[in-house]
Amino acid sequence: MATIAFIGLGTMGLPMAHNLVKGGHEVRGFDLEARALKQHEANGGRVAASAKDAVENADFVFTMLPIGKHVKAVLEDCLETINPNSLFIEMSTIHPLETDEIRSTLHAKDIAMVDAPVGRTSEHAYTGTLLIMAGGEEEDLVRARPLLELLGDPIIDCGGPGRGSRMKIINNYLSNMINVATAEALTLAEVIGLNRDLAMDVMSGTAAGKGHMATTYPNKVLADDLSPAFMLELAHKDQGLALDLAEQMNVETLLGQAAQAVYEEAEADARGKQDWTTVYAMMREKVGLSDS
Ligand code: NAD
Repeated sequence: MATIAFIGLGTMGLPMAHNLVKGGHEVRGFDLEARALKQHEANGGRVAASAKDAVENADFVFTMLPIGKHVKAVLEDCLETINPNSLFIEMSTIHPLETDEIRSTLHAKDIAMVDAPVGRTSEHAYTGTLLIMAGGEEEDLVRARPLLELLGDPIIDCGGPGRGSRMKIINNYLSNMINVATAEALTLAEVIGLNRDLAMDVMSGTAAGKGHMATTYPNKVLADDLSPAFMLELAHKDQGLALDLAEQMNVETLLGQAAQAVYEEAEADARGKQDWTTVYAMMREKVGLSDS
């Protein structure tokens, strides 16, 4: 049985701390909200008077807080009382450069850290099925794993310190854009008279719904083959048709226009006759990633 400090018993932290309790561990919880502390106690956890109190002699310190400044504030409060042999497991979604900063602060005290932000929702926090993106030294990941397994499945080693935090942000970046793109397309679909269920059904069988990583990318740009399966200039033309339609129907297309700007740039870069996935090759080249 490990002694665990768990700071941040909100929507996600409370059920996560509960799963650690159910795993047979002593979980000293702390949160600024009295209601959260009461619930943690009802779940079989112990309540600490402060974060400083919670971390004293703990084997593991978990943080599940809103943003980086909260994690840094908690760390500042606790730094003097954290057990140097403990492992700090930071699970909030925070700026990756703040993750690095927090790791450096801990390293100066010889305290190891794993960044392990989570994907999915509070429902998965209850069922212990969060998707955990972990970053850390191999030995620290090995130490964290039995506890992370109480919280999530799968637990993905993202390839080193700070990489969990980075993976989480990249995942949400793409997911956020797909959310807005989906909203734009479905709104336009309805406005131009399509049945929404039918439109969703059609798109669930194409790159629009399946995603390009699962469809177009593997055999084209990722295989260094830019011969056109679908020519970029045709994508550019089709995007223009949709944007014109949307303008006439007063449908907002902020993301659609941004995508069109990228196709225009690719055409200007003489990529019009290439496969439309060439936009990825173009972006890699612009930041000096031209060797795949
Ligand atoms: P939340 O706001 O419900 O919980 C955060 C908790 O931290 C609150 O109870 C708050 O009182 C507490 N807190 C803030 N400052 C504190 C301090 N100094 N000391 C002690 N406690 C403090 O947020 P959440 O939904 O649990 O999210 C936590 C993190 O997980 C966020 O970074 C979020 O982006 C990420 N996340 C959330 C979800 C989700 O579905 N809610 C999914 C994936 C990731």
